[in-house]
Amino acid sequence: MNIIMLGPPGAGKGTQAKRLEAEIHYPHIASGDLLRDIRKEDSPLARQVQGYMDRGDYVPDDLMIKIVLDRLDQPDTQNGFILDGFPRTAAQAEALQAELAKEGRQVELVLYVTAPRDVLVQRIGSRISCPNCHAIYNAYTKPPRVDSICDVCGHIVERRTDEDLNVLATRLEAYARQTQPLVDHFREKGILVQIDGSLPMDEVEAQVDAAAGMPELR
Ligand code: ADP
Repeated sequence: MNIIMLGPPGAGKGTQAKRLEAEIHYPHIASGDLLRDIRKEDSPLARQVQGYMDRGDYVPDDLMIKIVLDRLDQPDTQNGFILDGFPRTAAQAEALQAELAKEGRQVELVLYVTAPRDVLVQRIGSRISCPNCHAIYNAYTKPPRVDSICDVCGHIVERRTDEDLNVLATRLEAYARQTQPLVDHFREKGILVQIDGSLPMDEVEAQVDAAAGMPELR
């Protein structure tokens, strides 16, 4: 099954996508993680990507589309994938659907994870992550077992440079203007399931599992 995770920063799409990956074994492809890996390089492209991200702006469509479609060309995605953070614009959605259609593939499920703005702001304010393996933690509710050390790979965890609350305002604005319209687009196609990301974790997980495991109930 080809799944898209849609929703504002901090709603919990990444956390749910990683959990789904472990359950259903489709690769979790997070556009932000692909960009953060590019940023680690010493190249003009890396500096360009860093500029957009640190301001909270979206990376331009042509660049973003190339990065993600190249990833979707890899053989591990052929039976299914969990795409997290892409598409974020109408142009990205069109490019993705056109490319998949060429290969007889299509998006089958869109998990739209939402939460009120105050919850997003509070979560982003306390989110920490691993720059090496991209595991996600929360300083208060889900800290690493050993202080500042990633449970998964042992690297030192950190706050993302774009998690500053001033930058978050720009990210939320970009989301509202460019990404929110995609909700209606996918809802009209009949493939969108809305998940309340502000519920306790086990209830969010149950909603995601119901949507991903039983597509015939949609
Ligand atoms: P979040 O979902 O918490 O906003 P991400 O890691 O998905 O975090 O994205 C971080 C940043 O990477 C975004 O603010 C943006 O600059 C860039 N980015 C990620 N995905 C896209 C995309 N599909 N189109 C444009 N920019 C993107």
